[in-house]
Amino acid sequence: MANEKVKVLIIGSGPAGFTAAVYAARAGMKPVLYQGGQPGGQLTITTDVENYPGYPEGVMGPQMMVDFQKQAERFGTDIRSGMVTGVDFSGWPHKVTVDNKTEIEAEAVIISTGASAKWLGLESEQRLNGKGVSACAVCDGFFFRGQDVAIVGAGDTAAEEATYLSKLVNKVYMLVRRDEMRASKIMQQRVANSPNIEVLWNTETVEVLGDEEVSGVRLKDTVTGEERELDVQGFFVAIGHKPNTDIFKDYLDMDEAGYIKTIPGTSKTNIPGVFATGDAQDKIYRQAVTAAGSGCMGALDAEKFIAEKEVELQEAAL
Ligand SMILES: Cc1cc2nc3c(=O)[nH]c(=O)nc-3n(C[C@H](O)[C@H](O)[C@H](O)COP(=O)(O)OP(=O)(O)OC[C@H]3O[C@@H](n4cnc5c(N)ncnc54)[C@H](O)[C@@H]3O)c2cc1C
Repeated sequence: MANEKVKVLIIGSGPAGFTAAVYAARAGMKPVLYQGGQPGGQLTITTDVENYPGYPEGVMGPQMMVDFQKQAERFGTDIRSGMVTGVDFSGWPHKVTVDNKTEIEAEAVIISTGASAKWLGLESEQRLNGKGVSACAVCDGFFFRGQDVAIVGAGDTAAEEATYLSKLVNKVYMLVRRDEMRASKIMQQRVANSPNIEVLWNTETVEVLGDEEVSGVRLKDTVTGEERELDVQGFFVAIGHKPNTDIFKDYLDMDEAGYIKTIPGTSKTNIPGVFATGDAQDKIYRQAVTAAGSGCMGALDAEKFIAEKEVELQEAAL
């Protein structure tokens, strides 16, 4: 295996990874960043982003990520294609394997591998993604002001997103597969208290309707098997996210869903010199701006770690 030594290795090229790169590069740490299978991250699969500060007219997601990349490159980040396929955090420096063939030793590793929304798996859902189908009410609810939307899910996140949408849109249909919700009592109460949310129990989605944009959904009653159509202009899926953290699970503390645990107020994980940023460690906010903010934290924490490690090594050599 090839062997290379770097100071800071960043895994992921979303808002968190590129922001970490800007800070690490400007601090003279010559970061190396691996882009993974989705260069630019989740925002490359969306259209308008209107809530990222600094773009008063909004910006297309893919263009925004080109801007992030250019800024990281401007200060000398070494941006590479490649997927991190394994890590060994048992000693120090940390070992990272790329594409099953290249082994890199890094003084600090910043994990910015993001998370992926879970989808129902319908062809129509995929085809209309970004054209009325969304997995993020906070991101896209604004585009459906005054219209009717449906949201699938029965947990706390679905209940929270439904109440968020109810303040913007005309009517929210909450589609729940069973005759009860998993959401906590308090969240269910918030749904019940929102006059423009209607919960459709025992309901599953058969198809999202529309050619160029969402015009409705075909629903099935899970008890009677009866099908019917409902007119909606937006279709939200809130059935959970999966953080892209499987390769770290032998070393890092995570919650039951796989979100990496960090020491509150920092990007530090349970392994010194390994930092987690962005959606890979954030199951609450999951926004580009919060991911970018935590990417900044990752780089500053990594810089401090490396400086302290250098002092430690110098003292040990005396
Ligand atoms: C459709 C959609 C619309 C959205 N709209 C908005 C919006 O309008 N405003 C907003 O603020 N937020 C929005 N979001 C949320 C936002 O995209 C995320 O919060 C943000 O992208 C998270 O950034 P991140 O850097 O943590 O991870 P991601 O953007 O998920 O990037 C993860 C990166 O890690 C890489 N990676 C993963 N595994 C590996 C590996 N093993 N090796 C190397 N690289 C790896 C991937 O290739 C990718 O580059 C939207 C999300 C979606 C899906």
